[in-house]
Amino acid sequence: MSSTNALEVLIQALRRLPGVGVKSAQRMAFHLMQHDRDGAEALSMALHHAVQNVHHCARCHTFTEDDICSTCLDPERDATRLCVVETPADQSALERTGAFKGLYFVLMGRLSPLDGIGPKEIGLHKLMERASNGVVQEVILATNFNAEGEATAHVISETLKSRGLHVTRLARGVPVGSELEYVDLGTIAHALVDRR
Ligand SMILES: [Zn+2]
Repeated sequence: MSSTNALEVLIQALRRLPGVGVKSAQRMAFHLMQHDRDGAEALSMALHHAVQNVHHCARCHTFTEDDICSTCLDPERDATRLCVVETPADQSALERTGAFKGLYFVLMGRLSPLDGIGPKEIGLHKLMERASNGVVQEVILATNFNAEGEATAHVISETLKSRGLHVTRLARGVPVGSELEYVDLGTIAHALVDRR
C-alpha cells in the first residue's frame, strides 16, 4: 500500500466518526501524522483495546469490560428502583447528580421505527424480565424529552404497566426537546425527586 493510500484509508476511517466530514477528517489525519505520532499510536492502541474488551453488561446493557458492570454489582445500590436511560452518557449525567441510588437499564438507543430501531433493538424484552424479577418495585423512565424519547417512554410504560409494574417518569423540569446529557445537574436532580 503506498503512503498516499494509507493516508486516504485513515481519512476514510476518521470520517466514520459522527459529525466528522471530509475536511475535518483530513485535518485530523494530517495533524496526527505531522505533529503527533505518539498520540496516533496511543489512539490506535486505545481503539484496538476497547474494541477487543468493551461489551455490554449482561444486566443493564451499559458498556463494561466485565460480564456484569460495577454499578450492577454494587451492594450499596437500591435494587428496588430501576432507572431506564437511553445511553451511557445519560446514565453518567444522572450519576453525577448523586440523587439516584438505584440501578439502571440502558436502552443503548431509543425507538425509531424509521431507522429500524424497534423494541428488540432497545432490549425491551430484557427490560421486562429485569423489571419483573420480584425485587424491582419502581421503574423510572428517564428517556430524553424529545419526540422519540417520549414515544419510547410511552411504549415502555404501557408494556410494564400491563404487567402490573409501578412506572414513573422523570418530571418535566427538564426542558422539552432536550438531551439529558446536556441538562444541568440541579435540573435533573429536581426532575428525579419530582417524578410521577
Ligand atoms: Zn450493569
